[in-house]
Amino acid sequence: MHSDKRLCTRNGCREEARVALTFQYANSVIWVDHLSDERRPQVYEFCDIHWNRFAPPTGWTLEDRRRTLVLPFVHRLAG
Ligand SMILES: [Zn+2]
Repeated sequence: MHSDKRLCTRNGCREEARVALTFQYANSVIWVDHLSDERRPQVYEFCDIHWNRFAPPTGWTLEDRRRTLVLPFVHRLAG
């Protein structure tokens, strides 16, 4: 069983997708979510590498809607 593995949507990338990016063009917001169960064509799914390299276009806002994942470079714990 390997059909569950989701690959990064970047061309030529063979890494496993980790985050889902949804572009809300109406208000220039990019939602960052965990991968959904079903792949949706308008959602970009990036691997860790491309996610770490990703920067929103000028004028866009990133809204991270994930609750449980902590970015590796953030070491802030409660207290
Ligand atoms: Zn990638």
